[in-house]
Amino acid sequence: MADKTVARAVERLFRIAVGDEARTLEGMAEALSRDRGRPLSVLDDAVLPPGVFGQWVRHHDRDEVSCAGWVHARDRTIAHELGHIALNHSGRPAIDLATDFLPPALRDLGALMLRRDCVDTLSTEEAEAEAFGSLLLRRLHVTRRAQNPSVRSRLDEALG
Ligand SMILES: [Zn+2]
Repeated sequence: MADKTVARAVERLFRIAVGDEARTLEGMAEALSRDRGRPLSVLDDAVLPPGVFGQWVRHHDRDEVSCAGWVHARDRTIAHELGHIALNHSGRPAIDLATDFLPPALRDLGALMLRRDCVDTLSTEEAEAEAFGSLLLRRLHVTRRAQNPSVRSRLDEALG
């Protein structure tokens, strides 16, 4: 059942993607951002707590996704974090609720408490984000490959 939820979330992201967005991970991040009506920034080479490979910080007005500098599977990590966002993983609902009642000046502090640090765990949400990430990258790969032959035939025509 969880697999279905993940597949639907990936499917949905491809549906809302426009133009070239469905060709790159960055494009998919843009599609997700537009869908949420909130800016979404991606930070590479972030300095994160020891053992944390990726992080999603939900600020009150924007989302920030980070990938640790030591991570080799950069795309995989970003796709994983996008999964948490697309799947509406709230992380810590109690603090989340409390943040709604924080005065604006304290909201950044609230976001820090709300941040999701991704380490290797076996929790359901981590497994779902991981499944989302790998499905998203697989589909991006297939989409790109499907588009390649037309590029090649145009090239062939151009070269005579
Ligand atoms: Zn995670």
